[in-house]
Amino acid sequence: MLAAFCRPDKGSTWRMNFISIIEQKREGAELSSDAIADLVSAYTSGDIPDYQMSSFLMAVCCRGMTAAETRALTLAMRDSGSVLEFPEAELPVVDKHSTGGVGDKVSIALAPLLACLGFRVPMISGRGLGITGGTLDKLESIPGFHTDLDAARIQAQVGELGVAMGGQTAEIAPADKSLYALRDVTGTVPSIPLITASILSKKLAEGLDALVMDVKVGAAAFMPDVEQARTLARSIVDLAGECGVCASALLTRMDTPLGRAAGNWLEVKEAVACLDCRGPADLEELVVACAARLVETDTTQLVEAELASGRPREKLDALLAAQGADLEAFRTKLATDTHAPVIREFVTKEEGFVVRFDARVIGEIVRDLGGGRLTKDSVVAHEVGIDQLAKPGEAFGRQATLARVHAMTETGADMALRRLDEALEFSHEPVNVPPLIMEVVE
Ligand code: URA
Repeated sequence: MLAAFCRPDKGSTWRMNFISIIEQKREGAELSSDAIADLVSAYTSGDIPDYQMSSFLMAVCCRGMTAAETRALTLAMRDSGSVLEFPEAELPVVDKHSTGGVGDKVSIALAPLLACLGFRVPMISGRGLGITGGTLDKLESIPGFHTDLDAARIQAQVGELGVAMGGQTAEIAPADKSLYALRDVTGTVPSIPLITASILSKKLAEGLDALVMDVKVGAAAFMPDVEQARTLARSIVDLAGECGVCASALLTRMDTPLGRAAGNWLEVKEAVACLDCRGPADLEELVVACAARLVETDTTQLVEAELASGRPREKLDALLAAQGADLEAFRTKLATDTHAPVIREFVTKEEGFVVRFDARVIGEIVRDLGGGRLTKDSVVAHEVGIDQLAKPGEAFGRQATLARVHAMTETGADMALRRLDEALEFSHEPVNVPPLIMEVVE
C-alpha cells in the first residue's frame, strides 16, 4: 500500500507524489486510505489540475479499486463537506438514487410522494452524466426554481415540509460536484468504485436512515449487463450498510427510455403527469416500487392510494414554491404544449409492433440537441428533447407518429429524425415486453 503523499509545501514534492499515485494505480496497486483522502482533499481545494485527476480517474476505470479503497474514497468525498443532521426520534430520513438512465424522472415524482408517506427526504441529486439525464438539470427547467441549497436550508426545509431537492454544493459533497463534472467529459463514468463513491458520498452526507437504489441495466445504463449491475448494487448496498444506512437496490431495465419523454422540461412535465395519475405505466410502476421498498409493508397498495390521493402533487407545488419557483409561470408552462423553436414528428413508413426505441441512441439525440453536455462548460437547453415516444409492445400503422422532436434548429431536428429511424426496432409480429424490474438486491 502507498503511504499518504506529503502535503506541507504544496509544491513539486506533492505533484511528484501525485504522479506516483497515478502510476501506482495504473499498475493496479492498492492505495492507502490516507493517500486517497489526501488526493480528494487536494483536488477539491484546487491543488491538483483536472488533467492529472482525469488521468487518475481513467486508471481507476481500467484497474478498479478494492472494497477498502472504495470505502476510503467514499468517506473522503463525503467528508469534503458537511454531513446533514436531523433530530433523532422523528420520522425516518430516506432517499432514492438512480445510477442514471434516459427518461428517468422518477426522483421528481418520488420525493414528494415519500414526504406524504411520512418520511423526511433531503434529496441531493446530480446533473446529467454521459448520455443520462440529471435531476438537477431537469428541475432547473422550472421557472425560478433553484437547487443550490446550503445545509442549514435543507435541514430547515425538510423539518417544515418533509422534503428538499438540491445538488452537491461547496458545502455538501463538494468533491463529488467537481469529480462528477470531470468524469462526465473524460469517459470515466462507468466504473463500479467511482459510481459507488459518487452516489454514496452524497447519500451519506444526507444523514440517511434508509436508501433505495435504482440500478439500471442495459443499452443506456453504465452497467450494460445484469452481472455488472448486480456487482454495482452489492457494492453500494454493502458499503451503505457498513456506514449505518439500510439500503436495497432494484435492478431495472434501461434498454428503452423510461416513460414517453426524454429531455429536461419534457421529463418534468411527465413527472407531474405521474403525480396526477395520468403518467406512463412504467414510470408509475417504478415510482411505486421505489416507495414500497422504503415502506415496511409487502404491498404497494398503501403507496398507490397515497399517489392517487392528490397530496403528493400538492406537496410538489409546496416544494417548488419553497425553493423559489414561480408557480403561476410553472402552471402556464405545463399548460403549453411545446416550448422549443422547432417541433417535428417522427412518422413511420411501415406498420408493425414496437420492440423498443434504443435508449442509448435516444440519450445521444437529446444530448446532441443540446439537452446534455459535451464539455464541462456546456450550457444545457432545457426545452429540447423527444416526447410522445411509442412504447415496446405497441402496434402502429403506416404514417403513425411514433415520437415528436423538440429542437432549437431545423438542422438539429433533421439530425434527430434521422437518428430516431436508427433508434427504432420493430417487428411485424406482436412483441412480448420483458418486466421492467429484474430483481432486488438487499
Ligand atoms: N449517479 C451519481 O450520482 N454518480 C454516478 O457516478 C453515477 C450516477
